[in-house]
Amino acid sequence: MENLTFGIIKPDAVKAGTIGSIIQRITDDGFRIRALKLIHMTLKQAEGFYAVHRERPFFPGLTEFMSSGPCVVMALEKTGAVPAWRNLMGATDPAKADEGTLRKAFGGSLGENAVHGSDSDENAAIEIAYFFSQIEIV
Ligand code: GDP
Repeated sequence: MENLTFGIIKPDAVKAGTIGSIIQRITDDGFRIRALKLIHMTLKQAEGFYAVHRERPFFPGLTEFMSSGPCVVMALEKTGAVPAWRNLMGATDPAKADEGTLRKAFGGSLGENAVHGSDSDENAAIEIAYFFSQIEIV
């Protein structure tokens, strides 16, 4: 699965009406969309997704935010998908993200930074399987 990664267009970007612009940027950057859907996570589903961060001080705020509204979950394919998608996203803190990145363009703050991306091939596989069944990956 090394050519697949998992991405989320987070609730802040969905609320701001930038789903279309972000998907355009993703396809312009050469990614092939293998799966995509709009979901509204419950708090429990967000806590399960971010379980690795459960001891962090920002965990309650992060999971509340991620369950505050709809988001778009995606499986994205490209050679070297994990680093390629993280490059397009930019630094976690939009204030530190490079020009031309999605977080620079669409992120508002460290907590509300428009997009998520897997940090390893192993986590990409886990995260895709958390949201998509095999039949939903085309
Ligand atoms: P990412 O891989 O770049 O998304 O960053 P991390 O895996 O380290 O953190 C997951 C998410 O938690 C980030 O995208 C941020 O939205 C949020 N986050 C990380 N660090 C902080 C922090 O110090 N404060 C707050 N409020 N949110 C944070």
